[in-house]
Amino acid sequence: METIDLLVIGGGSAGMAAAIQAKKEGIDRILILEKNEVLGGILNQCIHNGFGLTEFKEELTGPEYLSRFVQQVEDLKIPYKLNTLVTDISLDKVVTFTNASDGITHLQAKAIIMATGCYERGAGAIQIPGDRCAGIITAGTAQKYLNIHGYLCGKRIVILGSGDIGLIMARRLTLEGAKVICVSEIMPYSNGLNRNIAQCLDDYHIPLYLSRSVSQVIGKQRLEKVVLSAVDEKMKFIPGTEMEIECDTLILSVGLIPYLSLLNNIGCPISSTKGPLVNEHLETKIEGIFSCGNCLHVHDVVDFVTDEGRLAGHGAALYLQQLLPHDADIPVVAGEGISYVLPQSIKSDNREDVVLKFRVRKPIQDIYIIVENSGVLLSKTFKPVLIPSEMAMIKIKKEQMANLHDQVTVRLEKR
Ligand SMILES: Cc1cc2nc3c(=O)[nH]c(=O)nc-3n(C[C@H](O)[C@H](O)[C@H](O)COP(=O)(O)OP(=O)(O)OC[C@H]3O[C@@H](n4cnc5c(N)ncnc54)[C@H](O)[C@@H]3O)c2cc1C
Repeated sequence: METIDLLVIGGGSAGMAAAIQAKKEGIDRILILEKNEVLGGILNQCIHNGFGLTEFKEELTGPEYLSRFVQQVEDLKIPYKLNTLVTDISLDKVVTFTNASDGITHLQAKAIIMATGCYERGAGAIQIPGDRCAGIITAGTAQKYLNIHGYLCGKRIVILGSGDIGLIMARRLTLEGAKVICVSEIMPYSNGLNRNIAQCLDDYHIPLYLSRSVSQVIGKQRLEKVVLSAVDEKMKFIPGTEMEIECDTLILSVGLIPYLSLLNNIGCPISSTKGPLVNEHLETKIEGIFSCGNCLHVHDVVDFVTDEGRLAGHGAALYLQQLLPHDADIPVVAGEGISYVLPQSIKSDNREDVVLKFRVRKPIQDIYIIVENSGVLLSKTFKPVLIPSEMAMIKIKKEQMANLHDQVTVRLEKR
């Protein structure tokens, strides 16, 4: 069986950044395996602009952004295989993949980086009551139909969920001549970035209904109507609030889930983000297997995915060079007001700055982010506003991260 130093599964933004970083740090025998016919992952279908503001200080489209990384992969001569699906990995890092030219192939890797992205929750996942008719699709599928294949998925459209993909599709479908009747959101606030609400809904006079969800879909073959009902604080429909809307398409933008079946199959411990538990080098609980990008936790902005890919590439390079710290794992805990924090542990002999990434449970203003190690304050940062859809980050200097013990806690404190 062929042996390789580093195998990267998934050639999206995270996987490419990870491979590039590992190569720059001296790892030579790297291979990227990508199931699609091109590198770049989901950004291939995101033809709107707004990518790269942090990374390049420019506003690029998705394909423009990713092409810069494809170029680096080419320049560094990092090998990759396209149309290649990884079907299995084992605890001792034997990877099974399949494609038309190699057939079913096994490869022994010394280290693996999982960069498989995420998938969208569909109609089954949210159990919408009513008929099982055509015309109900996810926002990402509608985006792929429109931007890659040139098909408009409907003429009168209701969008469920106000995450960024839903908002961007509201604008895109309107520009292509569809009537987007409304966006309906079950939460009392939008899950999208403020700039997307302004640029994708307000500019096109598309109403956003908060605390409202689909209580019924009606249609014999194709969707004919949806019923939107208000919900109470427990997310229960409130009788008497029904709004019947004639439409032919319901687009679902109701959440992304890390794509993790390969890690699940080998019993890799999973966190509340539905991604694997990782330490500060993004190493999972299985030695030598790293994770980054949307398969670790769902990101709002691709620039941060790229950065995280680099961190995983750096971690894998250190692992292969036998330079990773080895002491005890100090747990990192999400305290008051925080829904999750990442990494979930830091080595007590960590020697590098650590960026803690987290999300808040609900929109909140005038707040301090407190990071402490067993009662000792490591950092206190003021934020005028934090919202759940935006990933927040706090960088802690390595000097403060030395000699950690018990646990690190991230929590919010009102000013
Ligand atoms: C529909 C959709 C729209 C989005 N729109 C935006 C946007 O407008 N702006 C923004 O900043 N972010 C957007 N995002 C978020 C965006 O996905 C991330 O910012 C970033 O692109 C994720 O990069 P990634 O490498 O983690 O995942 P991906 O780009 O999804 O890449 C993962 C790659 O892994 C491959 N793969 C998966 N499993 C296997 C396997 N078993 N074998 C081989 N290859 C495999 C996939 O084919 C894919 O190419 C969107 C996400 C989705 C799902």
